This record gives sequence, structure tokens and C-alpha cells, in this order.
Amino acid sequence: MNSKRSTIKHVVKRGLCTGCGTCAGACPREALTMVVDRKKGRYLPQLDEYKCTRCGLCYDVCPGPGLDFESLGGSLFGDVPEHLALGKYLGTYVGHATDKKVRHNGASGGLVTALLTFALEEGLIDGALVTRLRPDRPLEPEPFIARTKEEIVAAARSKYCPVAAGAALKPLLESAGRFAVVGLPCHIQGIRLAERRLPELSERIRYRISIACSLDYSFLGTERFLRGIGIAPEAVEMLEYRGRGWPGSMLIRARGGTDTIVPLADYYSRLRPYTLGRCTLCSDMFGELSDLSCGDAWVPELVNTDKAGSSFVVTRTPEAEELLEQAASQEAVQLSELGLEELLASQKHAVFKKRKLKARMLLNRVTGRSVPHYRQRLSEPIQGDYLDALKFYLARSALAGDSAILRALFHVARRLARKKP
Ligand SMILES: Cc1cc2nc3c(=O)[nH]c(=O)nc-3n(C[C@H](O)[C@H](O)[C@H](O)COP(=O)(O)OP(=O)(O)OC[C@H]3O[C@@H](n4cnc5c(N)ncnc54)[C@H](O)[C@@H]3O)c2cc1C
Repeated sequence: MNSKRSTIKHVVKRGLCTGCGTCAGACPREALTMVVDRKKGRYLPQLDEYKCTRCGLCYDVCPGPGLDFESLGGSLFGDVPEHLALGKYLGTYVGHATDKKVRHNGASGGLVTALLTFALEEGLIDGALVTRLRPDRPLEPEPFIARTKEEIVAAARSKYCPVAAGAALKPLLESAGRFAVVGLPCHIQGIRLAERRLPELSERIRYRISIACSLDYSFLGTERFLRGIGIAPEAVEMLEYRGRGWPGSMLIRARGGTDTIVPLADYYSRLRPYTLGRCTLCSDMFGELSDLSCGDAWVPELVNTDKAGSSFVVTRTPEAEELLEQAASQEAVQLSELGLEELLASQKHAVFKKRKLKARMLLNRVTGRSVPHYRQRLSEPIQGDYLDALKFYLARSALAGDSAILRALFHVARRLARKKP
């Protein structure tokens, strides 16, 4: 036992916890539990000091303080092409599930779900770490190991709320077999760090699939949005953030059976002010440490014509390429190549992550906050990015905070900005 080793408490104290849950999933003593901080509307790890031996594992697997993408990416993927926004990559594609229901009910093209069910049916995996909303508490996510096609399909669609997917590494470590894991870029970062420390975890995981993520939102976002449209969060029996075609809609089923459907465009911007603070300091939109990333194919030709939905795919390992190839050749998915420039042009938030990040980092530093340290290439912000960073945080705190003055100031500033020629 080394009494000097840092624990996850240091990360939480510095405001750098991503809430990914890896520490809780990796702790051999079960000394950590992911608990919802109701005031902040997010998960934070809670440490049981009596169980903790200060072994330091929780700190070592934590992506919160930052990450050396350069050496990790190099050792994982070797000498393959690299792009500032995507990290290392082998191929870029666009596609969707062949099964019409899976496509219709997925977030974009149902591609993640189709690849998982294909891998399961082919015996390539014994299950997958995926996330569903809890049937008993429908606003709360539940990462779990799905072992049947039905369970994988039921866990499709995006959850725009905090998810501690890494906490489900515990049951995965305790299971025999090989698995796929699906998560946001921060989940995959934690999993990769955990794999470095726990070789037995690495042996269990066959595919690491990241869904792209520009930002994630606190539980307060959904709760206040629901109240705003006259639905008490406690009255919700079932909620789906996306699905029903592309780009999809939120389905809210109130107890008693009344359904309300809200298009993505109508609720998504209302969640923005509730962006989790740590997400604003993240550099990784595409899940650069995953074997395969999927996201919404906001490609102009598809946006106007394809209401059924498509996902883009980025591969980084030969095994991921092989999975795609097999799934396409057996018609589980439909796939075509997508030019790198076309993919990047459709993902405007890549700029937010790679160019504007340094401006937000600076703003956090000058206001005395800790920032993560990333060893990777970021581009230099342009002058306007600094003003943008200020506006971004002002808008966030004004709209999400309780300060009526701040809120009023923000609306005045927005009006004035609109009036400008
Ligand atoms: C918070 C958030 C932000 C996103 N931002 C972007 C973006 O900026 N640009 C973009 O192109 N795409 C973004 N996405 C990804 C996009 O919404 C789709 O997930 C992606 O296109 C894959 O769609 P699909 O139909 O292929 O996947 P599906 O077949 O619908 O499967 C999705 C899989 O992801 C898992 N999952 C869903 N939500 C979460 C979560 N929060 N944490 C862990 N696992 C989860 C599900 O359990 C399921 O296995 C975001 C998703 C989330 C949750």
C-alpha cells in the first residue's frame, strides 16, 4: 500500500472529473460509487474512505486530468494516417443498418446497433456494454452488459444526459468471454487507460466503439426542458431522446399514457445552456482512442434527401475494418466510402474542440480554474475565438444559472447583436 498515491478525490476537487465512471468500474475494493449530485445534475464518484487502500488505480485510469493522445494513439494504432480532428484513422465511411426498424429507431443510421447485433450473432462477441434509460427511473441512464439482440436493440439511440458507462466495467471484468464497449469519447479514454493497468480487461474487450460527442448536458437540462413544456419530470413513464426517423425526436410518455413528441431541433438548443462544464474543456469529439467511431452524417446531400438516417464511420484498427467488411458483405449494414474532406465539412463542432478549445482553456485559467493537460496537436484560436469563449460561458451561466440579472444581460446582448447590420 502506498499512502502517497493520489485518488480520484483530487480530480473531483479540481473540477476535472468527466463523470465517466471508469474509476468506479476499475476499483478492486468497490470503494467508489457514482452518485448523482442533484445540484449540479451530474455524476460524481463518491469514495468510501474505509474501503480505500490508496492503491492509486482510480487516479491512473482517470481521463479527467488530461491524456497523452500522442503516445497512446501511437502505441495503439501504429503508423497510420492522422488528421488533427479525427486522430489516427484507417477508413472513413457512411452507412446505415439494413434492417429498417433498427435504422428507424437508431440515433442516426442505427449503425452501432446493427454492428453490435451482427457481431453477437456471428459469435464475435458475447455481449456489449451499452446504455439504456432505466424503466423504473426513465430520466436516469443505466449502462449494462447486453447479451441478447433484443437488449442491444432496446439500448439504441442517444442519451443526452450524464452517463457513467465506465462503472459497468465491473460486471464486464467478472464475466467470461469477449465484448464490445460503446461509449462517448471520455468513456473510451477511461477504458483505454484502464486496459493499460488491467490486462484482463483488455483481453475481454474486442471492439471499442465511440459515438461522436461535441458536448453532453446535465440532468437539469432535460428536467427544466420538461417543466418548460408543462411536464413534471416525476410524471414521465418513458423517455427517448431520439429515434422515429432522422434526425429524430424526443418521445415523452407521461404516466397515464399521453405521448408528447418534440423534434430534435426544438429541444436540442434548450439543452445547450446545461452543457457540463468539463465537456467544454474536452478536445476529443470523435473518440480518437476507439477502434471505430460513429456519428450523425450531417453530409449536405443526405441532410436534404435522407430522412431515414445515416451514420458516418471512422475506423482505426484492422479488426474494426474487418467487422465492417463482414457486416457489409452479409448485408447487415449498407456502407459506402465517404471522403475525409466531406466528413469533416459536415462536422462543424470539430472546430469547437480543436481550434476554440485553447481560448476556453485560457479563460478558465485566468479565472483560477484547473484545466486538463492534453498532449496532442491543437490548432491556434483566431482572435474572435476568445470573444466567442467569453460569450459561450456567459450564455451558459446566464441561461442555466439562477441569476436574473445575468439572464437579462444575456438577452439584451443577444438583441443588440441581432440588431447589428
Ligand atoms: C451526448 C451526445 C452528444 C453527441 N454529439 C454528437 C455530435 O456532435 N456529432 C455527431 O455526429 N454525433 C453526435 N452524437 C452521436 C449521435 O447522436 C449518434 O449516437 C451516432 O450518430 C450513432 O448513431 P447510430 O444510429 O449509429 O447508433 P445507435 O444504433 O442509435 O446506437 C447508439 C449506441 O450508443 C449508446 N449510447 C447512447 N448514448 C450514450 C451515452 N450518452 N453514453 C454512452 N453510450 C451511449 C447506446 O446505448 C447505443 O448502443 C452524440 C451523442 C451523444 C449521446
